[in-house]
Amino acid sequence: MVMKTNAPALIFQNGTAVLPDRLVPDAVVICEKGRIAAVGPAKRTRVPRGAHVIDARGGYISPGFVEMHVHGGDGADYMDGTAEAVRVANRAHTRHGTTSIFPTTTTGSPAQLDAMLNACIAVRKEWSIADGARLPGVHFYGPYFAEDKVGAHSAKGRRNPVVEEYTEYFQRGIIKIATCAAELPGAEAFYKTAKKSGCLVTCGHSNSSWTEMERAFRCGMRHVDHFWCAMSSVASLRARLGTPMQASMEEFVLMHREMSTEVIADGHHLAPALLRFAYVMKGADRLCLVTDSNRALDMPPGEYRIGPEDGTMFISDGFVGRMPGGPLASSIMGMDHMVRVMARDTKAPVHDVIRMASLTPAERAGVAKKVGSLEKGKLADVLVLDRKLGVKRVFIGGEEFSVKRRG
Ligand SMILES: [Zn+2]
Ligand SMILES: [Zn+2]
Repeated sequence: MVMKTNAPALIFQNGTAVLPDRLVPDAVVICEKGRIAAVGPAKRTRVPRGAHVIDARGGYISPGFVEMHVHGGDGADYMDGTAEAVRVANRAHTRHGTTSIFPTTTTGSPAQLDAMLNACIAVRKEWSIADGARLPGVHFYGPYFAEDKVGAHSAKGRRNPVVEEYTEYFQRGIIKIATCAAELPGAEAFYKTAKKSGCLVTCGHSNSSWTEMERAFRCGMRHVDHFWCAMSSVASLRARLGTPMQASMEEFVLMHREMSTEVIADGHHLAPALLRFAYVMKGADRLCLVTDSNRALDMPPGEYRIGPEDGTMFISDGFVGRMPGGPLASSIMGMDHMVRVMARDTKAPVHDVIRMASLTPAERAGVAKKVGSLEKGKLADVLVLDRKLGVKRVFIGGEEFSVKRRG
């Protein structure tokens, strides 16, 4: 008798399973009722009869990727503020192996942020496999950026933390990651509220000093957005505060084991030596891969907008986004690309590279009990990758998502 269920028992076989700390060659991964039931070497793992076999064809059986910093894809930006935009972007990233996604706000008006949060709440509530990656929460990123570190985002939508504004946002229960520049007036109260709401508290788009980071740390800040991008350095602090020269966010993150950070490993933002340096200094359990990708992902080269309708424009050359005059705008690649570049540029073992794209962001964002690794009891979010780390098949909760574009 065949049980009729959305998620049949699955057996992934003929591949190398990627665990957080090692590879298991010739492994089987068994999923039942949408969850992982067993992982082990084929020779020593009992396989249920009648299960649907997924042939990994000698590639990798990997946990689905977890993305904590992303602005859009396939023409849509989360700040467009519609459920359809959220779904379009989520589906695009799912084709690149992301199975849990934290849509990320930019600078914008309270009305624009309100619409974005509502759209994400609606998609989370009515999720089905056709929507692609699951949406465990939102990364509240803009608008509380430092004026001198707004980067490619619209300066008009930037402001200092407003208690009434963010208190109301946090009450909606969807914000799981929360960014604010540490030097802004009101940053400490923001961090404390974010921490109380159970968020990963992060400092980004900031020119803060060591002293300001220490204060933030005491309020619960434990993460810094896109390392080396739109953050302070000894040189930037010298320009802001004069001499004696001050230690920066960089030194603070490198010195404190409790601090995690993320890199945009698209091959255009950071040279191989910096990627390798970040990996060696922080380790695979404190360094996350993020795409920080925007609506130009999977779109032809051309001019695109960052964020909402009054956001800034940038040029995609098909490889990376740039502002007029040359500064980087953001990446336009998916997580599979980041994984391949990280593996190539750092020579880190595959299990470490995949950990940085799955379990580490899941742990930092507080969702590791459910997702992030091939572990018994977790959701059956499983990828089949080829030997070159290309995405072949994507499963979310044991259901297959079609990776064919607009298919
Ligand atoms: Zn940024
Ligand atoms: Zn960003």
